[in-house]
Amino acid sequence: MAVQREAALTYVRSHREAFLDTLKTFLRFPSISTSEQHRADMEATARWLADYLRSLGMARVNIYPTDGHPVVYGELTTDRAGAPTVLVYGHYDVQPPDPLDLWASPPFEPTVREDRLYARGAADMKGQIIGVLAAVEALLRTGDLPVNLKFMFEGEEEIGSPHLAGFIARHKEMLQCDVSLNADAGIMGEDAPSITYALRGLAYFELHVQGPAQDLHSGVYGGVVHNAAQALAELIATMHDAEGHITVDGFYDQVRPLDEEERAALRRLPMDEAFYLEHTGAPALWGEPEYTPVERVGARPTLEINGIIGGFTDPGVKTVIPSHASAKISCRLVPDQDPETIYQCLRRHLETHAPPTIRWELKYIVGAKPAIIDRKSRWVRALSQAMESIWGKEPFYKREGGTVPVVAQVKDILGVDSVMAGFILPDADLHAPNENLHLPTWYRGIETYVHYLCNLA
Ligand SMILES: [Zn+2]
Repeated sequence: MAVQREAALTYVRSHREAFLDTLKTFLRFPSISTSEQHRADMEATARWLADYLRSLGMARVNIYPTDGHPVVYGELTTDRAGAPTVLVYGHYDVQPPDPLDLWASPPFEPTVREDRLYARGAADMKGQIIGVLAAVEALLRTGDLPVNLKFMFEGEEEIGSPHLAGFIARHKEMLQCDVSLNADAGIMGEDAPSITYALRGLAYFELHVQGPAQDLHSGVYGGVVHNAAQALAELIATMHDAEGHITVDGFYDQVRPLDEEERAALRRLPMDEAFYLEHTGAPALWGEPEYTPVERVGARPTLEINGIIGGFTDPGVKTVIPSHASAKISCRLVPDQDPETIYQCLRRHLETHAPPTIRWELKYIVGAKPAIIDRKSRWVRALSQAMESIWGKEPFYKREGGTVPVVAQVKDILGVDSVMAGFILPDADLHAPNENLHLPTWYRGIETYVHYLCNLA
C-alpha cells in the first residue's frame, strides 16, 4: 500500500492541470436546479458526469430519473479481500448566480485569478466532486483501489433534496455500504484542517393566533378583547427564561450530554466570545451561560423566532386591534432529539400556556434529524491521519450548527454514518457572487483523499 500511496500522490502532483481542466468543463454547465429553464442543462450535466465516471472505468454507471432532477450513479470494486465499501455523496446542481453584475468574471466561465478559480459551483460543490474523483483516478492508474467505492451524485441539493430519500429507499440494495463520504463540506481555514463530526437537525413551525373574528377599532373595542399580536408576543415570551434556556417541557429530554473530553476538544477551536461579537456585531452575546458559545452553536438546541407577522405595518398610523398574528419558529436540534417529538412538546406547551381569549394553530412545516459520528471511529481516524499527513498537524474537531438532511437520510435508510470530508474554505463565497475555489487547498484536498482511501484499507 505504501508504494502505491506514493505513486498515487506523484500522479496527483503531475496531473494538476488536467484535473483543473476537467473541473472547468464541469463548471461551464449552468446546472441551476431551481430554474425550470435550465432543465436541459441539468440533463446535459448529468450526462457529462456519467460519461466522466465511465471514462474512469466505473461499472453500473447510470442516470436514474426521479420526479425531479436525475441521480448519477457508478461504482468501482477492488480485488482486496474484506475491503470496506464507501458511498461517496455529492451534488452536481448549483445555486442561481444572481446578482450577475456583482461577478468580476461570468459565473459559468471559470476563471483563475491569482490562486483561486472563480465560478458558480467551484467550491459548492463541483470542485469537491472532481477532487474525490481525481484521487480515485490516481489510485486506479497506479494500482488497485484500496476500498470499494460507490458514487451517488444528486441534482437537487440546492432545492432541499426533495427526491433523494425516495431514491435511496428504492435502491437500498445497490447503495449498501459501510460508511458514506459526504464531500459537501469544508475546513476552517487553509492552515486549519478540521473535521465536522456532528450536524444539527431542524424542526420548522408556524404558530397562528386568532383573536376577534376581524380587525377591530381600538377606540371602540380596546380593553375588551385580547389583541392577537399581543397574545402571540406573550406566548413567545413563555418559550425561554431570562438566561436563554428553552422552557418548553421535555425539550431537552433527548439531548445527549457533552462529556469533559469533548468539551476540552471543543475548547481548542479558535472561536471565543470576542470572535462571535466581532462576527455578529451584537452589543453582547446571549444564551445558556453554562455553555461556551462554540457549544451553544454546535452541541445545544435552539428555538428561534424567524419572523412575526400581524397587524398594521405600513407607514403611518392606524389604531387597530389585529385579529390575527403568526410567527415562524425554527428549532435547531442536536443528537438525539427528534423533530416529531419536539413538535409534540411545543404543542403541549401551547395547550398549557395559551389563554382562553384566543384560538391557535401550530403547523409543522418541515423537519430533519440531527447527526453525529463517533470521533474515534476508524472512519474519522482515517481522515484525521490523512489530514495530519498533508498539513502536519492534528485537525480541529467541530460540531456544525447547520443542517445537512442527506446525512440523516443515509443514516435512517442505509444505517451508516457519514464522514464530512470536503475542503471548502470559509471565504469561498458559497451561494454568493464570485464563488471561488482556493486551488492550493484543493490540491491538498485531493492528496488528502488519496491518503484517506489508503488509510481505510
Ligand atoms: Zn453543497
